[in-house]
Formats: sequence, C-alpha cells, structure tokens
Amino acid sequence: MSDTPVISNFIRNIIDADIAAGKHASIVTRFPPEPNGYLHVGHAKSICLNFGLVQGDASYPGVCNLRFDDTNPEKESDEYARSIAADVAWLGFQWNGEIRHASDYFPQLYQYAVELIQKGLAYVCELNAEEMRAYRGSLTEPGKNSPYRDRTVEENLDLFTRMKNGEFADGSKTLRLKIDMSSGNVNMRDPVIYRIRRAHHIRTGDDWCIYPMYDYTHCISDALEGITHSLCTLEFEDHRPLYDWVLDNISIDCHPRQYEFSRLELLYALTSKRKLNQLVTEGIVSGWDDPRMPTISGMRRRGYSPEGIRLFAQRCGVSKSENVIDYSVLEGAVREMLETQAPRVMAVLNPIKVTLTNFEAGVTGSRSAPFHPHHPEFGEREVPIAKTIYVERDDFAEVPPAGWQRLTPGGEVRLRYSYVIKCDEVIKDASGQVVELKCSIDPATLGQNPVGRKVKGVIHWVSAEHAIEADVRLYDRLFTEPRPDAVRGADGEYVDFKQFINPASLATVTAYVEACVKDAAPETRYQFERLGYFCTDRFEHVAGQRPVFNRTVTLKDSWAKEQG
Ligand code: ATP
Ligand code: MG
Repeated sequence: MSDTPVISNFIRNIIDADIAAGKHASIVTRFPPEPNGYLHVGHAKSICLNFGLVQGDASYPGVCNLRFDDTNPEKESDEYARSIAADVAWLGFQWNGEIRHASDYFPQLYQYAVELIQKGLAYVCELNAEEMRAYRGSLTEPGKNSPYRDRTVEENLDLFTRMKNGEFADGSKTLRLKIDMSSGNVNMRDPVIYRIRRAHHIRTGDDWCIYPMYDYTHCISDALEGITHSLCTLEFEDHRPLYDWVLDNISIDCHPRQYEFSRLELLYALTSKRKLNQLVTEGIVSGWDDPRMPTISGMRRRGYSPEGIRLFAQRCGVSKSENVIDYSVLEGAVREMLETQAPRVMAVLNPIKVTLTNFEAGVTGSRSAPFHPHHPEFGEREVPIAKTIYVERDDFAEVPPAGWQRLTPGGEVRLRYSYVIKCDEVIKDASGQVVELKCSIDPATLGQNPVGRKVKGVIHWVSAEHAIEADVRLYDRLFTEPRPDAVRGADGEYVDFKQFINPASLATVTAYVEACVKDAAPETRYQFERLGYFCTDRFEHVAGQRPVFNRTVTLKDSWAKEQG
C-alpha cells in the first residue's frame, strides 16, 4: 500500500506517546459496523483509519479486528454482513483472525450484568418508554429516580433471570444502570443496558429474548478483545463517560481508551445508511451497489479503485474539526490513481461518420500504439484504420469558435496514432443535421509531422469496420444539491432529500470502442482517451459479449467549470 502517503494526525500522536511511554508495545484497533446496511464512503474513512494504523506504510505493530455490532436483530441481515466483509477485503485490508460479533459475547455480557446487579449498580425497571422519557429530564433539567430504582439485589437478580427466561412481555421491563439521574450528561442518567425483544437474531437465532444495548455492549466487546485504541466518531464523545463507567465497575482487566474523530460528510452525497436505504427501497437507484451510490460497493461498481479510495481517505484527514469534503476531492483522488493504473484505448460515445475518400486498402497504413504512454509493460495493440471511421460529434464544428483546433470545413486535424486528415465536405440530412463528413488523408503523415504547416489538434476515432459496439452508462452525481438532506423549505422544515435527485445522473449510450477490449473481464478499467475512465460492469458485463461499461469519472472536473 505504498500508494498512500502517511500523514500524521492526533490519533497517531497519541499512539506514538503510548508506545514511547511503554504503555503498549503493539496496538489493537477494531472496525465495528452494525450489519444493518451497506457501508458508505464515511465508513471507508473509518476502515482506512483503523486498518491503516496497523497495515501498510508507517503502520504500528498490531492488528485490527472486524467486529459486527449485531445487537439490533430486527434491522440486521446476513446479506449486509457479507457485503461489509467483502467491502473491507476489497479495500485491501485484512482483519485479525475470524470476524467477530458482539453476539459472540452475549453470555459474558449477561454475566457482567449479573455482577453489576450484585454490586447494587443495576436494577430492573418497569417504566414504559414514555414514562422513561419523562423521568429522564432534559438537557436543562435533571431527571427523576425511577420508582423501581431501590429494589433489592435479590429481587433484581430474580427479575433479570426471569427476563432472560422469557417470562415477561417485550418492552415490559428493562435492566438499567444505577448511575446518576441528575448527571449533566444525559447518557449517565441510569441508561438502559438490556431490553426484552423477541426477535430472531442472524447468529444466535432464538436463544435470547433479551438484547444488550450498544453502549453497554461496545465497551465490553472492546475490552474482551484487548482493544488498545477504540476509535469512533464524535457523536460518541458524550458516551465516553459511560464507556469508562461500565469498564470501571465490572471485573475485567482491560480498559481500552476511546478517542473520537469527526465524521466524514461528502457533498453531493449522503452518508447515512438509513437515507441510502430509502433510495434503495423506493427504487430511486437500482440497489445498494448502484454506481451512483456513495456506498463502497457502488463506488466499486462505478470503477473507483481501492487505491483511489484509500488516497481519498488519507486526504480527508483525521481530526475533531468538521470534515465536509466536496465530491470533486473524491473524484480527484480516484482519477489520480487511475491515471497510472488504467490502459488507454479509444472509444467514440457520440459518433459522426467520417468517410476517408482517398483511403486505399493495402496502401493506407495503420500503427500500433502503446496502452499507456508511460507504462510500456502494459503492451501495445494495432489501431486499424478503414474507409469509414467514427469521430466524436463534438470534435466537429461547422462554425468554429476562435482558437478551434479540431475538425471544421477545410481544416486539418490529426487522428490519434494515425494520419492528418482534412475535412473537404459536410453532408447534411433534410433537416440540416450533419450526418457525415468527407475527409482526405495526407498520406505522408503517418507517424510524421506534415511538411510546411502545423496541425495542432489531435482527436480520437475508431474504425467503423473494426470497432465493437458497447453499452456505456454515463453516470453523474446523484444529487443536484451539495447537502440534499439539509435544505429547509419556507416552513423551516427539512425538504425531502429525494427532491434533489439529479435527473441527468444516468444516461446510457451506444458507443464504438476499439475491439481490443472485447475479452475484458468484468471490472476492467480503461481510460477512453480524451473522455474519461470507464470500467466494465461487475455484474452485467460478460467477457466476449457486447461490453457494458460504466463511466467512472471524466478526465477533468466538469462541475468546477460549469459552476464558474
Ligand atoms: P450510519 O449513520 O450511516 O448508519 P453508523 O455510524 O450508524 O452509520 P456503524 O455501522 O455503526 O454505522 O459504523 C461503523 C463505524 O463507522 C463506526 O465506528 C462509525 O463511527 C464509523 N462511521 C460511520 N459513519 C461515518 C462517517 N460518515 N465518517 C466516519 N466514520 C463513520
Ligand atoms: Mg452506529
């Protein structure tokens, strides 16, 4: 992973200090997703941080665990869990040993809860959700003690055992920590750590009808795995006192330290699983891996490379200050990596027919061209020419603007890796639309400069007889608004983010591509010269058949230009 520059950050500084002080000889981090959706670009940042600390350049000795935080059985699925593991591996990271699950620890979590009850630090509460809210108080008002707070240890143990044994209805009782209902930190006001929920769990099936809450589960899972640095996003900062309280009050030796960093927010995209799920279930996109989705699987299908995403994560940085990043930064990183990774071929997306009037079979020659100007190891292919070729409609202008260097009546241009041609005649249909150009080849210009004049423009083209047809999907940003979920209407309420779907986010065209791409496997990336990077679709492209390409990114940032 030498592609990714290592930039220090406050977490690396903490680890450096811990190692220098002899606190740790090696470190253990973890990435703890909940399998309730596909991972998005924000998770990619967290993955690159947690795994990047122990893998790749300038890494610390240590390991990173992949742990599913599977404490909400209703929302979790195997499909999500499989996709998450695949995404982490695709990004180039290797987790330590087997995948772990918070549910692996349900028996220990239960035992620690019993210990807390025995110490008089937890009690069974019968307030319903509404009462619980009323008792909790607010940011400005202290809470009130639950009437069930002072049950005896024996009574609590009996009730908790019976909760576990399924004697009580869902939601009728909870187990709560006895901390402080007047704490300034609402998270410390006797938080619930167990609730009754008869739900089928993807791993433990129907073994349990009580499930532990996230805050309680997370710190103990970290400690059981010997995590040294537990990295999470800033919204958990106020939960840290609870993280520490739980570990301080149970008999466990390990006490990981939690550090918070800011969430990545990507403009023109959404970084919320819940909202991304809405796009999927409402059919606005074709699935979680639609190439327009900011999910890891969507970015993969679009053609982003793992190296590009890792470079992006590096550029996002790790800090506590706001991390709002424009989409162009992601595209820039992806483009930068593809520049040296992708072989280059020619394709014409919006063709206009060109007849080379003086083409002579057997006389007019062709050249072979390298797949990459700076990577001879990518090899070469023949670029055949024929009497009929296609060029890009945009590369012809009947009335050219000032400084035009491409095709125009009477003007000359070089065909990439071929001859200089001159446009002699423009053929139009009845409606006045240009349908064909008749051009002549300067036979002395194959691989040589024309004599006595300069021809500056070079355009891409393909031979009509040799090129193959391909379906090319031209993707653009999914939203027209930088923050689609933060726009307020006249009434001050948030406007539904689905109103800002970019109607031009997908266009499918038939393109002509050099035949050398014919046997490309799915997920093969190319640069189509002068157009952008394109990738054969992971699922719909079949080697040897009519290719299906997704446009990954254009060669330049067209949005920056359009927006001044
Ligand atoms: P979402 O809000 O999209 O559901 P989440 O935080 O609930 O995200 P988890 O599966 O719990 O999703 O996240 C796993 C890890 O990824 C957590 O440590 C979380 O802090 C981190 N993470 C999630 N979203 C982002 C983000 N936008 N930027 C950085 N890290 C993130
Ligand atoms: Mg979460």
